Amino acid sequence: MKPTERLFAAIDTPDLERAVSLARDLRGFIGGVKLGKEFFTANGPEGVRRVNETGMPVFLDLKFHDIPNTVAGAVRSCLALSPVIVNVHAAGGPTMMSAAREAAGMEAGRPLVVAVTVLTSLDHSDIRATGIRDGVVEQVTRLAVLARDSGLDGVVCSAHEIMRLRGACGRDFKIITPGIRPAWAARGDQKRTVTPAEAVHLGADYLVIGRPITSADDPVGAARRIADELAHV
Ligand code: C5P
Repeated sequence: MKPTERLFAAIDTPDLERAVSLARDLRGFIGGVKLGKEFFTANGPEGVRRVNETGMPVFLDLKFHDIPNTVAGAVRSCLALSPVIVNVHAAGGPTMMSAAREAAGMEAGRPLVVAVTVLTSLDHSDIRATGIRDGVVEQVTRLAVLARDSGLDGVVCSAHEIMRLRGACGRDFKIITPGIRPAWAARGDQKRTVTPAEAVHLGADYLVIGRPITSADDPVGAARRIADELAHV
């Protein structure tokens, strides 16, 4: 895989025209765009189709978490939008995850189905409040192994968890990492960041980078700078 193909820009905006123009401008410099709940709730499937028309691969970050039948139906509905990655919450359990994976089908062009383990916004006291007695790292590892055993293709996790999850889940399990900040970019609300090169060194398959690209005065220039950094890893 070319280094630039690993890069997904998180386009977190309700503004359809801005999303479409960013996707168009960034084409050729990054591997795809991540569209999440903010974009989807504002613009729906038609909005995703508009981004598809730019030719940019889409990671549809809707983090499904519901009963297995409903999640399977949601994943089947996603297929009409041709995403390259879709995701679910691992906390939905093994039956829900298997149903999601089955719904994605077997065709060569099917989307990768990946799991979110513990949201990086939650700390030990938050997960304790929900009844989980183990630490965050133990819970992340448990859910990642469960995702793999349920047939999922990978997980979204912090770069700091990559080594542990590689050991627990094997080399072929895809690891997608947000919380990336080039040395020259502001951290914003992300606390434990790594640089793009560090994330690839640690073994990330895909990097999700939002504001360092989308909030830059020159988003294409920022994406190119990150791609150059990755080319030298
Ligand atoms: O702008 P920034 O680079 O922080 O964007 C990161 C993207 O990855 C956002 O869309 C955010 O919602 C998402 N994300 C994250 N941490 C997770 C899962 C997803 O930052 N654990």
